[in-house]
Amino acid sequence: MRFDIVTVLPGLLESPFAHSILLRAQKKGIAEIHVHNLRDYSSAKHKNVDDYPYGGGSGMVMMIEPFATCIEKLKSEREYDEVIFMSPDGVTFNQQLANQLSIQKNIIILCGHYKGIDQRIRDLYVTREISIGDYVLSGGELPAAVLVDAIVRLIPGVLSDETSALSDSFQGELLDAPVYTRPADWNGHKVPDILLSGNTPEIEKWRFEQALERTRKRRPDLLE
Ligand code: SAH
Repeated sequence: MRFDIVTVLPGLLESPFAHSILLRAQKKGIAEIHVHNLRDYSSAKHKNVDDYPYGGGSGMVMMIEPFATCIEKLKSEREYDEVIFMSPDGVTFNQQLANQLSIQKNIIILCGHYKGIDQRIRDLYVTREISIGDYVLSGGELPAAVLVDAIVRLIPGVLSDETSALSDSFQGELLDAPVYTRPADWNGHKVPDILLSGNTPEIEKWRFEQALERTRKRRPDLLE
């Protein structure tokens, strides 16, 4: 799966993809993540990518031209399944959407900044608008990293233990059960006996009950 992320701040996206599961996915050739500097696609003398809003008001608006040039170039090289714009007024991201996107091949992700991007980019090129939650960040880079992380870990072969992702919260209708590791006794705080019993069916049953209890308490909406 290939991601092309278009941003005015490529530096913000260096670290999120350079570690752990996302790094491994790229090394294995399962995911390709390309970050494009929007300024490289500006024909303006000073490579600016934003301008004052028509009609006045505060905040700068990202111009159509650099985005259009970059998207057109990418599209001339390969077919894209989606052009996603990260935006607080988009559809709220969730595990179901991550699952849907994880079976795509090529995705472009546009990161906004300042006041946002010229509406015409959204009208002409964008196929989906996704928000990572009801709050406003300064740019679309962190949301893009969140999106890519959630998607890539679902691609078969990325996690060393495939079944791990399946038991995660939101993958089914239940939240995940509590987890423990060594030591079995930490200053008198003990791991539940059942987990040390070696009785797999009983452990599974316990985990299910714990997950159900946790979901009932924290997210009853998921059980409806
Ligand atoms: N004026 C806009 C917010 C601009 S914030 C509004 O009120 O809707 C600047 C950029 O940050 C946005 O264009 C978007 O790309 C990104 N962004 C901010 N919050 C986000 C969120 N919750 N989810 C996804 N992207 C977000």
